[in-house]
Amino acid sequence: MARLWPIPLPTAHQAPLSWRLPPAEAKPDKVWLSPPHLVGGEMAALQATLESGWVAPAGPVPEAFEAAIAEATGIPHVVAVASGTAALHLGYRCLDLQPGDEVWTSTLTFVASVAPAVQMGAKPRFLDVCPESWTLDPNLLADALARAGRTGRLPRAVVPVDLYGQCADLGTIRAICDRWGVPVLSDSAGGMGARQRGRHAGAGAQLAAFSFNGNKIITAGGGGALASEDAALIARARHLATQAKEPAPHYQHETTGFSYGLSSVLAAVGLAQLAALEDRVVARRSIFEGYRQGLAGLPGLSFMPEPAWARSSRWLSTILIDPESFGADRETVRRALADEGIESRPVWKPLHLQPVFRNSANGGGAKGSGGTVAARLFERGLCLPSGSALSAAQQARVVGTIRDCCAG
Ligand SMILES: *Cc1c(COP(=O)(O)O)cnc(C)c1O
Repeated sequence: MARLWPIPLPTAHQAPLSWRLPPAEAKPDKVWLSPPHLVGGEMAALQATLESGWVAPAGPVPEAFEAAIAEATGIPHVVAVASGTAALHLGYRCLDLQPGDEVWTSTLTFVASVAPAVQMGAKPRFLDVCPESWTLDPNLLADALARAGRTGRLPRAVVPVDLYGQCADLGTIRAICDRWGVPVLSDSAGGMGARQRGRHAGAGAQLAAFSFNGNKIITAGGGGALASEDAALIARARHLATQAKEPAPHYQHETTGFSYGLSSVLAAVGLAQLAALEDRVVARRSIFEGYRQGLAGLPGLSFMPEPAWARSSRWLSTILIDPESFGADRETVRRALADEGIESRPVWKPLHLQPVFRNSANGGGAKGSGGTVAARLFERGLCLPSGSALSAAQQARVVGTIRDCCAG
């Protein structure tokens, strides 16, 4: 037996008991926000991958995953990477973001939208969202770009964000940015399966980042992708994702890159999951409808809107609670759900209110004091359990608990 002195290495049949995972049904009544939902094909895809010997972050399985993402999104060039955040980081590198450059994004988002840019020395600016979609407000953006253009201080990139499966109005945003020659990097991490003006999330941006993290609508068990209509941008991203090795028999580098490749093992899981994407959108949309019907008629309770130009994936079903007419505030409802073993989450805390960004520009309003729409959504918004495997009985528990909170 192989020995790592002084500890004997276990062989497969001697694996210690502690390696065995608890059965998945250990906590039957816990309701999670958005747990992974297996489609059934993952095991076969994994087995085929392991048996082929292609397990590294290269080879036929990641290539097939990239082709499947290109087909699902209609964006022709794709590089699969280790996470959505890695895809965003590569996107910023591909756009040649430099220290001191500005990056503009919607304030109602996850920190990962700008974290890589901030780590590269960029200055973020946070714009408000519009009430019709809860995503980046194109009118605010147009005004802010016009002001910045006049003073010659345009951002290096504009980063619209798809929120909970709701696309940003990418066609409109791209047209505005084109007037000023500012590239669009779409944070479509939560956008798989969502559509805007007849196109998939992220389509129409110079670059779009997707995530296959465990809580997303489909998952690779962790992973992401960067996609573009521009083959040269994705070739550069692929080069940077694999340590920026120049073509030479020895190791030759003209710049430094990253180790951001997606393992074949995870790509296999992602491939199996991607086949079910449209089913998952249908399931999540019907969960949203279930909430709409179950919570109908409650005073002060409303739902995340869906503009006429979009088809949301309803990745997360999200409600707003007006404490006055509902008779309880968002936190009271969240805690009541938690007491019943039901996980829910406040809407993103806007980035312009995060301590880490206390010195950043925000809002895009004439006085630079915007962000009020997003701040209100954070105050009142709650994401409800939305997993595509949520049962009718579980959803009835969520609905009943919320109804019990309503004093109206
Ligand atoms: C999930 C998510 C990310 C990060 O993706 P990872 O794969 O977890 O790195 C970035 N932005 C948004 C909006 C997300 O929802």
